[in-house]
Amino acid sequence: MTPPDGPRVSIPRRLSAIVRMRCPRCCRGAVYAGPLRMRRTCPACNLQFEREPGYFTGAMYASYFLGIFTTLPVWLGMLLAGARLGPILAVAFALVLVLMPVYFHYSRVLWMHIDAYLNPATFVSDSGSSPGR
Ligand SMILES: [Zn+2]
Repeated sequence: MTPPDGPRVSIPRRLSAIVRMRCPRCCRGAVYAGPLRMRRTCPACNLQFEREPGYFTGAMYASYFLGIFTTLPVWLGMLLAGARLGPILAVAFALVLVLMPVYFHYSRVLWMHIDAYLNPATFVSDSGSSPGR
């Protein structure tokens, strides 16, 4: 039975679901059907991924975080090794360009999981049908 304040997912299970790009509610259904092809609903629990118009605007923040998190070791290492600003910027920019598709996929998944973690009650039901109800 679902608790009244929404489904609870353990942190390790949620982290695993983020890495595997799975649904924030059931952690089983794949969010993407293929490269750059996001599903509208979860194939396992029918959760509508775009919760409201403009929902994924918040994913930009997740994208910024991922960009900083993934490039920081490189540019900080170059900075500490005494590299000049030009090469540091060029490498960081190239790294961001190469990783852009990864950021696109993971920022949306990360955003949905942050939302589900902070607002579990809003993930109890949606316009689609929920299993077991
Ligand atoms: Zn699901």
